[in-house]
Amino acid sequence: MSVFSHLEFDDHEQVVFVNDAKSGLKAIIAVHNTHLGPALGGCRMWPYDSDQAALTDVLRLSKGMSYKSAIAGLALGGGKCVIIGNPRKDKTPELLRALGRAIEGLSGAYITAEDSGTSVADMITISECTQYASGFVAERQHAGDPSPSTALGVFVGLKASVKQQFNRSDLTGLTVAVQGVGNVGRHLCRYLKDAGSQLIVTDIFAENIEIAVNEFGATAVAPHDIYAVEADVFAPCAMGGILNDKNLNQLKAKVIAGAANNQLANPEVLKTIRSKNILYAPDYVINAGGIIDIAYQRNGQDEAALTTHIESIGTTLSSIYQRAEQNDLATQTVADQMAQERIYADISFSENLMPINKTSKQ
Ligand code: NAD
Repeated sequence: MSVFSHLEFDDHEQVVFVNDAKSGLKAIIAVHNTHLGPALGGCRMWPYDSDQAALTDVLRLSKGMSYKSAIAGLALGGGKCVIIGNPRKDKTPELLRALGRAIEGLSGAYITAEDSGTSVADMITISECTQYASGFVAERQHAGDPSPSTALGVFVGLKASVKQQFNRSDLTGLTVAVQGVGNVGRHLCRYLKDAGSQLIVTDIFAENIEIAVNEFGATAVAPHDIYAVEADVFAPCAMGGILNDKNLNQLKAKVIAGAANNQLANPEVLKTIRSKNILYAPDYVINAGGIIDIAYQRNGQDEAALTTHIESIGTTLSSIYQRAEQNDLATQTVADQMAQERIYADISFSENLMPINKTSKQ
């Protein structure tokens, strides 16, 4: 398995392969860049088809975290962890504690948090063995689960995108197609319903669909039908890699604004997005609400300040859209440029960012 020559390697500072035979833990921790601060990023548990698939995923995700934190104005680097296994079957306290010990061994270069397949309860277990775990402050709303904050960020980002594309300040009567009504998608549906939008949803789990239909009056469609529905906005809130030419050719929506990480199947699809006059909200910009929440939890800062910071995602997106228009560039290209300007800037730039409490326990 190639690492240094991997297509997604992108000068990662550390890639750590963790094996604990006793608990069955097999994990990879990737630290992309710590120029702006310690690498904070979630821990994903997924039954990857191969070690190679897990490595590709963790490298892409950790780089995305460097870009996400830099754009969100946080003094954090980018990192990620993947556990190879089925979260419904293979997760045990012993396995999580073994991961905690491995994270502690990195001395704070990497700080973990929730991601797909891990929960607030899992972070509490991991924290028994490391001070570098986040996202479980009992006094916070939702006990530290960052998903509601991610949904708030997507909601304000979606509004900024609608303003840019349709020159409208409200969402009343607009139809939003939401792909995936899990932790983030469900909270997003609530915000959208309260704002007067019509909802079309899909999911692979019937119980999640039922909640969206019963609580938010959503119309449900089959997973493969979500692209072709008559909608103004498409909000991908399930898995990555879904923006490919085939799906984009079916898409009626003229705005793509959702929480999923790594939505582009490949960089080439940016051309298709632009040729179809679709406005794309770069994923790591619009879904930064969760990482901002974790940073505020770690620092013990109050929730009013947190909300203000999350709401700045709308302003950030508007400035990306303006720069993209002025320079005739894809919105993703502009976001990447802005993130790189910060990550690789002179160290003095980090003085403008919100510092994060690295060493103390939550
Ligand atoms: P989740 O697992 O709770 O929800 C995802 C939902 O998508 C589930 O209900 C799942 O059944 C559904 N789904 C899976 N495959 C599908 C398919 N083919 N078609 C339709 N639905 C499908 O995850 P989440 O925490 O809500 O995160 C959603 C996305 O947002 C993920 O890509 C995640 O990486 C990203 N994200 C989440 C956060 C956060 O704070 N939770 C932060 C940033 C980014």
